[in-house]
Amino acid sequence: MSASNWAVCPRCLNRARLAQVVEERKLADAYGKVPVEEFDAMRSALKPVDEEHFQSFREDYEFWVVPESGTWHASYGGECQVCGLSHEFKMVETIKDWSDDVAPDRNRVAARWRGC
Ligand SMILES: [Zn+2]
Repeated sequence: MSASNWAVCPRCLNRARLAQVVEERKLADAYGKVPVEEFDAMRSALKPVDEEHFQSFREDYEFWVVPESGTWHASYGGECQVCGLSHEFKMVETIKDWSDDVAPDRNRVAARWRGC
């Protein structure tokens, strides 16, 4: 089973915010130096950065348990369809207390006592 999700790309969002800062500085610098109409047009062109416009990071992931080994597995991969930023990782952990059986070492000790 695999799931997909579209997340906000952190690189694209950061680039947009930096570009916004540059445009805000240009606007501040233009104050009093350009005709009012031009200044108003510059100010109107400035729109707040909307995170929703940067949901270009496709995430694919799955989680599963392997009963025979008592392990939990996670696999994640993601890539931005705009800037190419990507990341992936895999993880395996033993589930604590996954078995009520006695530990394998205890079985060996018990077998020795039985004369095997
Ligand atoms: Zn991106």
